[in-house]
Amino acid sequence: MKKIERRAVVCMVLAMLLAAGLSLFLIRYFTDGGGWASSAFNRHLYNTDGQLASGTVLDRDGDILSTVVDGRRTYYDNADVRKATLHVVGDLQGNIGTGALNAFADKLTGYNLLNGAFGAERGSNLYLTIDARYNYEAYKALGGKAGTVAVYNYETGEILCLVSAPSYDPLNVPADITTNDRYRGAYLNRFLSSAFTPGSIYKTVTLAAAIEEMPDLFDRTWTCSGSVQIGEETIVCSGTHGEQNIGTAFANSCNVAFAQIAQELGASTLKRYTEKAGLTSSYSIDGLPTTKGSFTFDGMTDGRLGWAGVGQDQDLVNPASMLVYMGAIAGGGKTAEPYLIEKTTSALGIPSFPHISHKTGTLISASTAKTLAEMMAANVAETYGTKRFPNMDICAKSGTAEVGEGSSPHAWFAGFLRNEEAPYAFIVLVENGGGGSSVAGTVAGKVLDVMVNGY
Ligand SMILES: [Zn+2]
Repeated sequence: MKKIERRAVVCMVLAMLLAAGLSLFLIRYFTDGGGWASSAFNRHLYNTDGQLASGTVLDRDGDILSTVVDGRRTYYDNADVRKATLHVVGDLQGNIGTGALNAFADKLTGYNLLNGAFGAERGSNLYLTIDARYNYEAYKALGGKAGTVAVYNYETGEILCLVSAPSYDPLNVPADITTNDRYRGAYLNRFLSSAFTPGSIYKTVTLAAAIEEMPDLFDRTWTCSGSVQIGEETIVCSGTHGEQNIGTAFANSCNVAFAQIAQELGASTLKRYTEKAGLTSSYSIDGLPTTKGSFTFDGMTDGRLGWAGVGQDQDLVNPASMLVYMGAIAGGGKTAEPYLIEKTTSALGIPSFPHISHKTGTLISASTAKTLAEMMAANVAETYGTKRFPNMDICAKSGTAEVGEGSSPHAWFAGFLRNEEAPYAFIVLVENGGGGSSVAGTVAGKVLDVMVNGY
């Protein structure tokens, strides 16, 4: 009798484990599996290891980034390319939720309401807008540092390069990935899902407000003696810039001038231009939501407003929204919203509908955009150096964002090209990288050189 009881208990435990496992499996399906529609066909669509069993991810010119061979999902044969494209392609365990293998699983399996899962075993070809080669160059240029690099065509919206680091090889996941500091945030696509202190790249917003709200802006001068006292705050500058007009103050990225400008504009004006620029909004990139930036303007003291006006204090910016703002400056106020899926073709060879471009609202007025672009071009001529960007009519702003004592600042470089053949906007962030122009500007230069000039 005891034996039977014991067996009953064992059976019960097994049944409960089965139920728990099934629930977990279903939950995973709901969150990672590309929607409820495909869950009915899960046996066809996922292999025994839970890997998406069909569908091929390719880059814009047809390089296969991930496909299925003999029932096993595999990746590009070069480990550096695998690392450089990991965050757009996705991993095997489903930890990178914004990767194509997870986020676009329904498109990869080719499920649709008309045909159901017919042809799902073969799956679809999903072409991304990125070029694996650009990603490879960007990943190499980051040199092992954490950060993100993104370049998109501001006229069409195609994201041509999108790297997030730290990354890892999805075919050889490091055993210490959750404990080793060098992999901190490795599952995160920093471009889409993070927000960072912007430092001086935010001066492009302060300046846009000043151009429109301070009628005598271009007749005035600001004197920098290395710091300025505003209320209780001492705003320190990176140099001692002396007397400057607005153009020189922008090229010098002078904190003393821009903190005073921010104070003069006032918190509500700065808030209005920040919101208009889209920095507190979320974009949808093929359904992937970008993280909203955040700012504290309400109830701010003048001193703290001074810091906020130069991209410090509580300012946090999402790299994707800053990239779109750069695109809008380039595009005369509006830009195409960025996207990642170039097209899909089904197992039957039937192509999907072509991508329909969506324009953003007006993020900056047309005339202000034009003035700002000229001033950003002057930054490169006067400060960053045109020789670093051969054959490029480049407009840019660097940022060196202080992130607390004992930590190196975040290095930023954001801007765009005014080349008809290469209407590209770009953003580079090197976390704790050091100087904006020297570090992030160099990464941008390397990537853009490949994109514009080839090898
Ligand atoms: Zn200064």
